Order: sequence, then structure tokens, then C-alpha cells
Amino acid sequence: MGQYGMKKSIIIIGGGIVGVAAALKLQLDGHKVRLIDRGPPGRETSYGNAGVLSESSVVVLNNPRLIKALPKLLLNRSNGVRYNPWFVLRRLGWFIRFLAHCRPAHGRHAALSLRGLLQLSLDQHKKWIKAAGVDHLLRHGGGWFKLFRSAKAFKNYAAEMDMMRAVGVKFTVVEREQIRQIEPGLAPIYYKGVLMDETCAVSSPADLTDAYLGMFQAAGGVVECAVVSGLARDDDGWQVRSAEQVFRCDDVVLAAGAWSAEIAGWLGYDIPMAWERGYHLHFAPAPTSNGTPESTPALGRPVLDVEGGFVVAPMRPHLRVTSGVELTDRDAPPNFQQINKSVALAGEAVTLGAQIEDKPWMGRRPTLVDSLPMIGAAPRHHGLWFNFGHHHIGLSMAPGSALLLSALINDTPPPLDPAPFRASRFAI
Ligand SMILES: Cc1cc2nc3c(=O)[nH]c(=O)nc-3n(C[C@H](O)[C@H](O)[C@H](O)COP(=O)(O)OP(=O)(O)OC[C@H]3O[C@@H](n4cnc5c(N)ncnc54)[C@H](O)[C@@H]3O)c2cc1C
Repeated sequence: MGQYGMKKSIIIIGGGIVGVAAALKLQLDGHKVRLIDRGPPGRETSYGNAGVLSESSVVVLNNPRLIKALPKLLLNRSNGVRYNPWFVLRRLGWFIRFLAHCRPAHGRHAALSLRGLLQLSLDQHKKWIKAAGVDHLLRHGGGWFKLFRSAKAFKNYAAEMDMMRAVGVKFTVVEREQIRQIEPGLAPIYYKGVLMDETCAVSSPADLTDAYLGMFQAAGGVVECAVVSGLARDDDGWQVRSAEQVFRCDDVVLAAGAWSAEIAGWLGYDIPMAWERGYHLHFAPAPTSNGTPESTPALGRPVLDVEGGFVVAPMRPHLRVTSGVELTDRDAPPNFQQINKSVALAGEAVTLGAQIEDKPWMGRRPTLVDSLPMIGAAPRHHGLWFNFGHHHIGLSMAPGSALLLSALINDTPPPLDPAPFRASRFAI
């Protein structure tokens, strides 16, 4: 029990969308919450994603098809996945554990677990977006369009569609002619498309995080700018240290995305995390025939070119091209090959106007070996909670993770089965 009756003082480390959503929920629960980030919240990985609020992304990367695709991926020429061989060798144990999850049984378990968390999250996103008065950011439904250039690629997608059907995801297979009716801005290069009927999207992930942060502060939550450099517990609770200050609290939530494993490591936890880095670049809307830029983006929703391994997403006011996965050290210097190739391939699909920034943005998707996030109590420290590892779908899963975490902290019935997300599923 905390010093505020049943309510506690809680520090959240990390102000990405996952930390902000957790802070908002816990503050609304009546706790006294302090959110600490080393910079402005929502400006790391949560800033530069494709804006998809998915309830359909239930098939994890380490599914049985990955094993079949492995020989080709090892050539390291796929634009969708690139790896640094030295990183793979150094982290061979992580990769073996990741690949060991490419089993049908794990695929089904992960799909069911993610589906529950994604649906809970989308429902809560809609409520918070309404409460924050930022409806203009939200595209309701049909917010994710996967596109296939060849019959072969579409055939390879059959297993994913089977899994989506099995867990209740609603989607529509679209033929070549209909693709252009749905997205007139696309060049006629696609053989088929799969439109996710209920998936939504936002036109600015940063504005969304800011809106939730605004609600958190309006409810009395406190935001601190500090680099957390130490964590310790004594009889009075937790001490969260930066070079300048010591913050005290009853409970700590670690939600620092790709940096969470390092921070948990200070307390002796060996978190099986790697980083799937990704990049983006922005482009002005395509110029019209008389040379003036169009006032609306060429696309109505984020589209994924499955073979090309890139996404083009309409953001306000630009088009955002995002790249696939780069497996390398979290802090290795950026390598722009994939985003440059993505931009070239995207130019075949949509007309891009002028490039906005000189240098691509880079983010780090935090991924655990079973491709499920870690949400719940730290196994060996009372009052320490984990909330990280949301890999490709952290923007989507943040609110559901917050609801689950809040139920665990408040010791109330959880909104879904917490077992798949427990930290204790690993010997850490
Ligand atoms: C190219 C790309 C496209 C993507 N597209 C989508 C998408 O369309 N939909 C979707 O759902 N997901 C998408 N994702 C994934 C999503 O962006 C991530 O899962 C999500 O942003 C992770 O959020 P987070 O809060 O865990 O981490 P972050 O946003 O990285 O936040 C972690 C925070 O911790 C802070 N921090 C770290 N260390 C410290 C410290 N020592 N002291 C203080 N603060 C610290 C950082 O400053 C940072 O703000 C995409 C990712 C990428 C890279």
C-alpha cells in the first residue's frame, strides 16, 4: 500500500507511447504519477512509425514461414530485412531463441494473445482520442492496405490470412482493378491487395502522444526531463536517480522501449531483447500538372508493399516512407541503404514530391525472442513493473498494455489473460 491510502506514487521511466499511455491510465486511476524521459516525450521510436492502429497484426515475424524464407534472407539482399553479420554472431543465442519460436503452436499462441491485446488497445485508443478531442487524427477502419506485386507473393501470404481468419480478423481481398478505385494515387503495379477492414490509422503519431500527454498532465500527472541512471530500493520504496536528482516513489514502471533491457540489467535482469531498427523520410505531396503541390496527400491510408518491404503512410502534411527491419546494434551508426531503396521502390507506386529532410529519421523497435511484449511484475523486485518489448506494433498496443498493467498494479481483475505477457515466462 502506498502513502496515499490505496493509491501509490508511481514513476514511469520512458515517455514513448507505451509509457505515456501507462502514465495516463495510472494517473486516471488516482495514483500520483511522474513520467520521466530524457527528452521530450514521444520523440523516439513512437515519433516516426507508420501510424497504423492495428487489430490485425497477429502474425509474428518468427512464424514457420520465416524458416522457409531463411536461406534467401541470409543472402542479405531483401529490402524488408537486413542484418549486420557481426551483430548476429555476437547475439547468436538471441537469434537461435528467436528462430526456435517459429513453431505453429507458438504462432497460434502469439496470434491469440496479440489479438486480445490489440482489440483492447484499439477500443481504448478510440475512447482516448475522443476524450482528447483529436478525432481529426484518426482514420476509422480500412486503415492498412497490404499490396502484392506478384501472384507468388500473394500465394505466400495465404498462411497469414488463414491465421487472421482463425482469430477473427476481418479483411477483404481486393483485385488489381479495385486497388486503384480504393487508392487512385497508386500506380497500376499491384496484382492483389488485402484491406484490413477494422484497422485504423493516425495521421501523426507524435500528435497522438502529445494529446495523451496533455490528458495526463490535465489529470495532475507530472512530466520530468532527466536521464535515468540508477534504480534502487530501500525500506521507504524506490529511488530513481539521474545525475542531478533522486526521485522517490512506491512503484516504478519501466517503459523505456529499446533501452529497457539495459535499465533492467542494472538490477540483474537478463532481458532477451534485440532491436529491429527502421527509418523514415518525408515527401511533399505530389505536384499537380500545373506545378502547384496538391493540398491532400496522394494516399488515404498507410500501404505496405509486401515484396518491396516498405510502407507509404499519409501523414499531416507529408507522405512518410518507412523502411523494413535492420538487425544491428541499437546504437550502431545509421545505414541509409534500406530507406534509400525503399524510397526508390515507393516512387514506382506513388508520385513523391520534394524530399523534406536531408537525413532520414531512425527508430528502434524493441523485440523479445517470442515477439510478445513483457507486461507485469518484475520477478525479483517488489513494486517494479515491466512494460516494453512491443516490437512492430507498440503504437497499436500501448493502451491495452496500460489497462493490463493498471489492473495488475491495482490488483483488480485484468481485462485479459496476463500469462502470455508475464516477465516470468522467461528465466531472467
Ligand atoms: C519504421 C517504423 C514503423 C513503425 N510502424 C508502426 C505502426 O504503424 N504501428 C504500430 O503500432 N507500431 C509501429 N512501429 C513500432 C512502434 O513505433 C514501437 O513499437 C513503439 O514506438 C515503441 O514505443 P515505446 O514507448 O516502447 O518506445 P519509445 O518510443 O522508443 O520510447 C522510449 C522512451 O524511453 C526514453 N528513455 C530511454 N532511456 C531513458 C533513460 N535512461 N532515462 C530517461 N528516459 C529514457 C526515450 O527517450 C524514449 O522516449 C513502427 C516502428 C518503426 C521503427
